[in-house]
Amino acid sequence: PEPAGPLPIRKLQESLINKIAAGEVIQRPASALKELIENCLDAGATSIRVVAKEGGLKLLQIQDNGSGIRKADLPILAERFTTSKISTFSDLSKISTYGFRGEALASISHVSHLTVLTKTASEPCAWKAHYSDGTLSPSKPGLSAEPKPSAGNDGTVITIEDLFYNTPTRLSALKSSSDEYARILDVVTKYAIHNPTVAFSCKKIGSSGSEVSTPGNSRVPDAIRLLFGSTIAKELLTSKASSNAGSLSQPDTSDSQDSEAWSAEAHFTSPNHQAKKTTFLLFINHRLVESPRIKKSIESIYSAILPKGSYPFVYLSIQIDPRSIDVNVHPTKQTVHFLNEDVITEQIADSIQGTLNGRSASDKGNQAG
Ligand code: ADP
Ligand code: MG
Repeated sequence: PEPAGPLPIRKLQESLINKIAAGEVIQRPASALKELIENCLDAGATSIRVVAKEGGLKLLQIQDNGSGIRKADLPILAERFTTSKISTFSDLSKISTYGFRGEALASISHVSHLTVLTKTASEPCAWKAHYSDGTLSPSKPGLSAEPKPSAGNDGTVITIEDLFYNTPTRLSALKSSSDEYARILDVVTKYAIHNPTVAFSCKKIGSSGSEVSTPGNSRVPDAIRLLFGSTIAKELLTSKASSNAGSLSQPDTSDSQDSEAWSAEAHFTSPNHQAKKTTFLLFINHRLVESPRIKKSIESIYSAILPKGSYPFVYLSIQIDPRSIDVNVHPTKQTVHFLNEDVITEQIADSIQGTLNGRSASDKGNQAG
C-alpha cells in the first residue's frame, strides 16, 4: 500500500495533557501514598496515619498533624505547578523538601475524587474542600464548590477515592487489591524506618489492628527491629562513611560551603543472616530512591561471604549537598543523580566491607563475629 502523507499536528487539549502527566506521577496507590507521606513530612508532621480500602483503590486516606494548609491557598491547591516550596530556578539547586513541583495533588485530582480537610494552628476551625481536574469542585452536583468550615484537628487529612475511575486502562493494569496493599505497606514501612521520630500507622479500613505501627520516639535500628523482626535486628551491624574520612581527603576550604561534602550511614546484616532475596532500603537526602548501581556494589560484597542464593538486609542513608544532586530526573523522583557517584559508592562499599570483615577501627560499635 502507498504510504499515507503525514497527519496534521494538533495541540492536545489541556485536560488530556493533565491526564497524561498525572499518569506519570501517579502509577498506583502506593505512588500516590509516597507523594502524600512526603507532603506530611514536608509539613513537619510527627504523626502520620494511613487507612486503605481495597488496596487504596477504593479509598486511601492519610492524616497528619503538620502545619495544615492556609484557607486562602485552598482554591489553587490542586492546580498543576502550585507549590509553597520553591519560587525561583536557583531554589531547585538547594532543595531540602521532598516536594518542589506542585504536581502530586494536581495529578491525584485528575484521576480520582480528592478531598482535603485541613486546619492551621491559627485558624479557628478546619476547612474541607473537594477537587476534580485541578480545581475546587462541589461534593455533589448543584452544591457550592467553596471550602466549607468543618470540625478537625490541626493538620491535614487527604482522602483519595476511586483512584483511576476515569482511566480504565490503568485500573485494569493493576494486579489485585492485596498486591496494592502490600506495596502500600512497603512504602509506609520504609518511611517509618527512615523517620523513626515520626509515629506511623497503616491499616485497612474498619480493621482494629494496624499492619504498621511505630511509636515515633525511637531510632533506625529500633524501627528495623519493630518492622522487620528480631532475627534481622539481632544481626545488624552499623557503619558510617563520609567525605572527611578515608582516601578522599577533602581540603578544608575557608569557605565552609563545601558542595562535595557527603556522609552515609548504613545498617546491614552480618553473614549470620541469610535471606532468599536482598532487602535494600536506600535513602538519598531522605528520599526513598532506587540505585541499581549502589545495590550491585553492596551485593557483590555479600556474594563473596554469603553462601550462594543467600542475601542480606541493608539500610543505607546517604546525605549529599543538595547542590551536587539532581532530583529532577524522573516524574516519580525515584531516580536521582549526584556528583562523584562512583567514588562515593566505592567508599560506602569499602566501609561496609570493613565492618563485615571486623577490621575497621573507625566504625561505630558492632563488629562482625
Ligand atoms: P509539592 O509538594 O511539590 O509542593 P504537592 O502537589 O504535593 O506539590 O502539594 C502542593 C502544596 O500543597 C504544597 O506545596 C504544600 O504547600 C501543600 N500541602 C500538600 N500536602 C500538605 C500537607 N499534608 N500539609 C500541609 N501542606 C500540604
Ligand atoms: Mg508534594
